[in-house]
Amino acid sequence: MMKRGFETKYVWMNGRLIRWSDAKVHVLTHALHYGTGVFEGIRAYWNGSQLYVFRLKEHLQRLLNSAKIYGFDAKYNLEGWEKAVLEALRANELKCNTYIRPLLFVGYGPIGLNITGRGMEALVLTIPFEKYFEKPGVDVMVSTWRRISDMTNPPGAKVCGHYTNSVLAKMEAINNGYDEAILLDISGKVSEGSGENLFIVKEGVIYTPPVSAGILEGITRRTVITLARDVGYEVVERDISRTELYIADEAFFSGTAAEVTPILSIDRKPIGDGKIGPVTKTLKEKYEKVVKGDEPKYKEWLTPVY
Ligand code: PMP
Repeated sequence: MMKRGFETKYVWMNGRLIRWSDAKVHVLTHALHYGTGVFEGIRAYWNGSQLYVFRLKEHLQRLLNSAKIYGFDAKYNLEGWEKAVLEALRANELKCNTYIRPLLFVGYGPIGLNITGRGMEALVLTIPFEKYFEKPGVDVMVSTWRRISDMTNPPGAKVCGHYTNSVLAKMEAINNGYDEAILLDISGKVSEGSGENLFIVKEGVIYTPPVSAGILEGITRRTVITLARDVGYEVVERDISRTELYIADEAFFSGTAAEVTPILSIDRKPIGDGKIGPVTKTLKEKYEKVVKGDEPKYKEWLTPVY
């Protein structure tokens, strides 16, 4: 197989390490047809001498919660999944910034939606990974698509099938010359990005949509709220209207892949002066130090791999 930069030697699959090129499933895998899988996106940061996984337990707890919402057998408990992630990283001897993708999905079997007693497959991919966005700040549009609602698909569960909603919004944005989309929820309130949570800053106060606005409750969102409060900012979780976006002093995304990414414009209207703002800059720099282990106060968020 041709090396494209993201491949590693091994994939952890159902308790074993499998060669990358052998990590395959049958085309009648249920999740391929119906989106019946749950997953996580986790990062590990290499600081020159140690690889730290960021908030591993919190991510794996969300994986177990996602499985619970859909009634999937998680196959392994928190400790089992934790062991799998560390095994995969160590087997691949990764000494670089890495994206970790645990995936739990309904496997091979007959066509049909009744998944009672169906076998689950579990895997962990570890992929060398740097930046999610190519630019240091992004230009975004408010999507014409609405974020999934708790009345149809529980947004708080990180489910494979839910991401067709994110792909619609993301591709609408890309095809219209933007970097990313912001989705409104079903009632028209601001929800989140296609794969990131959203914050705005107005007169020194930080606002972010509540869990009830159809968001996936991000681990990075939680981290940013803690860091911001520790620095002394007021953070308010409340509904945000579309028009508030345009007149915000600053706006930024948070996410495992996106980290803290400044939003420079929304629907071609510059946010503030169209450059990274001071609050965003403070939080972005703080976040980057914390994940690399440069802030002893937050060391309990890091799991050393070696
Ligand atoms: N919302 C969605 C839809 C996402 O896919 C993600 C990425 N997991 C987030 C928010 C941010 O979550 P986290 O900070 O835990 O990565």
